[in-house]
Amino acid sequence: MNQKSDHTLEIIFSMLRWLFLIASGLIYGLYYYKGAENLTYFSVLFCLGVVYMATADIVIHRSTPQSRPYLLVSQAAVIIDIAAFTALISLTGGTSSPLLPIAYLIILHAAVYWRFAGGLLSSAALIAGYILVMLLQPQADTAGLLPFHIMNLSFLAMVGVLGGVIVARERRHLTEKSYFENQSKRDYLTGLYNHRSFQEQLAEQVGFMRSFTLVMADIDYFKGVNDRYGHVTGDVVLKRIAQLLEGAVARKQGEVFRYGGEEFAILLYAHTAAEVTVILERVRQELSLLTFEAGGQAFQVTMSFGAVTRTPEWTADIVNEADTMLYSAKKQGRNCIVWGA
Ligand code: GH3
Ligand code: MG
Ligand code: MG
Repeated sequence: MNQKSDHTLEIIFSMLRWLFLIASGLIYGLYYYKGAENLTYFSVLFCLGVVYMATADIVIHRSTPQSRPYLLVSQAAVIIDIAAFTALISLTGGTSSPLLPIAYLIILHAAVYWRFAGGLLSSAALIAGYILVMLLQPQADTAGLLPFHIMNLSFLAMVGVLGGVIVARERRHLTEKSYFENQSKRDYLTGLYNHRSFQEQLAEQVGFMRSFTLVMADIDYFKGVNDRYGHVTGDVVLKRIAQLLEGAVARKQGEVFRYGGEEFAILLYAHTAAEVTVILERVRQELSLLTFEAGGQAFQVTMSFGAVTRTPEWTADIVNEADTMLYSAKKQGRNCIVWGA
């Protein structure tokens, strides 16, 4: 969610950049009409801007937010923006350029990536740019303009500090929120989605009125593992089996949950019984190749599975049905899969 809103922000910044490029063209046109020079300088800058922004847009729309090109483009953009901003105001009226407020947006953008330090450093860089423009383009009434410059510079500094603090705080809340959200959905020991997530996901699937399969999977004679090798070893087995199950079910195929204790629930979306059987047989096969060790002794475990496919017309409690099938698998000697009607 964090990444999604950041991506939206990048797209908004990119659109704003295009808007400002067009605005700067128009504003420069006005100054040029009034006798400003530097047309070549502006044209080169304008073309560089177009090339850079087109490249950045391609990267932002084509690559994923975690990829290196994406991060490079979005973070480098802040630095390029500061340089472009300084050049742009020098061409559009200097320190009294109507494009000056763009600086505030650049500061906020920097704060998104580098929090408080980003706000502070970008505002310092923009202040330096402002002073540079001020010194390079001395205006007639320098002394009279001093209060105006002081105001502009103070605002840049204030937005840097305040923007940095506010954005940094908002970012921290967002990070904490997604951390706690994730914690409340996960099981502490195995890292799988927990019972609560399972119930939520199940209710959602039932609401979709589509067919899906529920598999209840239980480790055979697990109490014996604890009794013989201790609970710590039991925990290691649980974690390893959770990994195995998660690895066996691809993200788009379905989801694995720790239902409770040594019992796991697997929700499989839009899959035929034959396809589910292939997945479960693979789990059984991989499990048979797995050897655990405790106190110099090697041991293996097996699992039993109860599977039921729910059609939209179904009204019975699917968890109960899958549990009954699991019980049946246990009665049939364990280490097997039993399907419900
Ligand atoms: P069956 O083949 O019939 O499933 O036999 P079982 O021994 O696996 O079943 P039973 O329900 O008798 O025992 C389940 C055991 O799982 C009992 C409990 O101590 C253990 N267990 C549940 N949660 C955990 C856990 O988080 N860690 C460990 N180490 N053991 C757990
Ligand atoms: Mg068991
Ligand atoms: Mg059990």
